[in-house]
Amino acid sequence: MMSISAESNRSNSQTLSVVVPVYNERDSLVQLVNELQAGVRSSVSSYEIILVDDGSTDDSWKKIEELASCEAVVSGIRLRRNFGKAAALTAGMKVATGDLILMLDADLQDDPAEFPALLHRIQAGYDVVNGWKQRRLDPWHKVYPSKVFNGLVGLMTGLRLHDHNCGLKLFRAEVAQEVQIYGELHRFIPVLAHSRGFRVTEVAVNHRSRQHGYSKYGMRRFLRGLLDLLTVTFLTSFGRRPQHALGTIGLGFFTLGVLGLIYLSLLWLAMRLGIFTAYPIGNRPLLAYSVAATLLGGQALSLGLLAELIVAYTTRSTDSYSIRETTRKA
Ligand code: UDP
Ligand code: MG
Repeated sequence: MMSISAESNRSNSQTLSVVVPVYNERDSLVQLVNELQAGVRSSVSSYEIILVDDGSTDDSWKKIEELASCEAVVSGIRLRRNFGKAAALTAGMKVATGDLILMLDADLQDDPAEFPALLHRIQAGYDVVNGWKQRRLDPWHKVYPSKVFNGLVGLMTGLRLHDHNCGLKLFRAEVAQEVQIYGELHRFIPVLAHSRGFRVTEVAVNHRSRQHGYSKYGMRRFLRGLLDLLTVTFLTSFGRRPQHALGTIGLGFFTLGVLGLIYLSLLWLAMRLGIFTAYPIGNRPLLAYSVAATLLGGQALSLGLLAELIVAYTTRSTDSYSIRETTRKA
């Protein structure tokens, strides 16, 4: 019993910021805020709800202003136009003050009542808890591509989760400070966090079908998701040392090309010296291959150097490591 009360004391001392991206979700907002308050109230010492209007063209902002004026815990941010979900989340996380950050979709598909289950995993020592829509209530043309996507992400990044793109995620504030998301990289928060040594886990959560409004993502998401997967794989493996990738390819091609050219030159020399009669080298396919490989190799090497220049001048010293804990006094 002792340990349980100690545990609950510790959990109650944590503060929470809920960050919600809102794009044309007018009819869901009131219920969302009610459900959120009921879901998180008893598990944390204090909480705030940040609604980020991502350039809605319906009355979402008006609703947010109303909610913010009558609920002290609710605040709103309105972006100048539609910048995308990742941008909206970033804007919210930037002003969030909680020890923990809960992100969830505004459309009521994610269930705020799952919060205690997610928090439980944080208390067990994890830094990121990702939701998993085990029984997903979306049309088949979203469900199946998503299965393929999750499999591929696991394969390429080494972080195997069932549902990388789940809108419901709980993580420590440090994660939000260290992981930069832009474009549509919000679905890679667990992958990016994992690559910095944060401990990531998942919890099966309740999923509901959309009641109001419409889905903002269609089939295009699948293709874009694959392209983003390439980006993230590169970012997390060679992002800080691009020359190791480009340079390896470049050196490989360059060496092959130069070897080919040396071989051809020797043949030419032998023919000129009359050591043996060989065919002229001018129309040999090997010549074209060698020249192409030499040029390609040189290109990749110099691209790699350019990439290194960019990294060298844009890397902050704190980007290159991530501290779990320290015994130093603050
Ligand atoms: N969203 C956003 N900006 C956008 C597109 C979506 O803030 O450009 C929000 C949207 O309001 C919702 C969440 O991102 O809260 C997920 O969007 P949606 O429900 O359309 O995605 P789905 O559940 O269909 O994958
Ligand atoms: Mg949705």
